Amino acid sequence: MVASTSVGAAFVQVMCAEDDRAHLVAFRLYEEGVLSGRGRYAAICGRTVLAAAMATAPGRRCPLCRASFDSRPPDLAARYQ
Ligand SMILES: [Zn+2]
Repeated sequence: MVASTSVGAAFVQVMCAEDDRAHLVAFRLYEEGVLSGRGRYAAICGRTVLAAAMATAPGRRCPLCRASFDSRPPDLAARYQ
């Protein structure tokens, strides 16, 4: 499942089919994953996420993604836009 997230427009939340967690993927990297057709996306926690089916219910948020997001430099979000 892929859904936009309330943490910022520059990231998308991607449910991982392997660990049932919602990871954050920079929108630019998400686009690259879509264009590649592989269904795998590089999350900000370092994990390569295998996207779950769209019908998958949202799961727990990945704590490492959340920590990475919270500790980013203030100007990082601007660079992703
Ligand atoms: Zn993560």
